[in-house]
Amino acid sequence: MYDIIIIGSGCAGMTAAIYACRASMKVLLLESELVGGQIAYSHRVENFPSVEAIDGATFSERLLDQATSFGAEFKFEAVSTLRESENGWTVTTDSGEYEGKAIIIAVGMKRRLLGVEGEEELTGAGVSYCAVCDGSFFANQDVAIVGGGQTALQDALYLADICKSVTLIHRREGFRADETTVRAVKNNPKVKMVLNARVTKIAGESSIEHLEIEDIPSGNITKMPVDGLFVAIGNLPATTPFKDIIELDGEGFVLASEDCHTSKKGIFVAGDCRQKTVRQLTTAASDGSVAALAASEYVRGLSI
Ligand SMILES: Cc1cc2nc3c(=O)[nH]c(=O)nc-3n(C[C@H](O)[C@H](O)[C@H](O)COP(=O)(O)OP(=O)(O)OC[C@H]3O[C@@H](n4cnc5c(N)ncnc54)[C@H](O)[C@@H]3O)c2cc1C
Repeated sequence: MYDIIIIGSGCAGMTAAIYACRASMKVLLLESELVGGQIAYSHRVENFPSVEAIDGATFSERLLDQATSFGAEFKFEAVSTLRESENGWTVTTDSGEYEGKAIIIAVGMKRRLLGVEGEEELTGAGVSYCAVCDGSFFANQDVAIVGGGQTALQDALYLADICKSVTLIHRREGFRADETTVRAVKNNPKVKMVLNARVTKIAGESSIEHLEIEDIPSGNITKMPVDGLFVAIGNLPATTPFKDIIELDGEGFVLASEDCHTSKKGIFVAGDCRQKTVRQLTTAASDGSVAALAASEYVRGLSI
């Protein structure tokens, strides 16, 4: 029996683990994919107070070291569901079941998929969702990137330094990114833009051969040969396993009170998967500490 089970080892979950352990709680931290969460994909973080610059992988390792040094138990297991039990909540993972008096959901965000033919089959064989992780596999090759937000534009610049050519495909004319980045992309001779267009198919057997691109105004489809395709069209909260247990908003973000308590007693939430306006490391850390202290108080209250 754990006092607190934390689901997700991003900045929110790790901070929650640090605070909960320091409040003398017995803590289990469960992670399905990657220690450190989304930030592990970043090649440079410059806006975390007191840390001038750090790469995401090192930041993530330090978080885990700090959380486990205070006594958090870490397991690589994906949580599939939660159910109420006599003493709290039972968490079901791909490997077993664990009981916790309180739960902190800190599952963050998952990448949005294009949802076109060929995407699933060619993921890892030319289709990627992380320019920083996979860009170097396409050195001196022709790649395309889909998206019109800050991430897509920054990724286009990052890839332009590595690849032979980068084609930015965006379904609109304008971008949702800061002016400096937009200007840098427009002025980069290696980046070509295909606007008002969308990818309708990714063709290839064991690797990408070409993309089928629809020009949205005319409906015309053309073939674009590329070696790689990067998808950067945003994220969705990874809250599906909890959708029938706690209250979510229309987009799947968890609704919670100021102290991060959800609609169910004993279940708290922290980080990007919570309904809020700013999704950053600092706000994830803030939620993690608030949720951990509220959950610790809740657990102590159970034994009074
Ligand atoms: C490329 C990139 C660069 C960024 N750069 C910055 C930056 O410079 N500065 C900044 O402040 N922010 C940055 N961000 C945003 C920042 O990474 C997020 O705000 C932060 O990671 C949110 O932390 P989190 O713990 O809420 O969620 P996440 O980091 O998403 O972590 C959630 C974790 O939960 C795990 N998980 C999900 N579902 C389950 C499940 N069912 N069972 C078990 N585990 C599960 C996931 O695998 C993941 O590890 C960046 C994001 C990206 C993608």
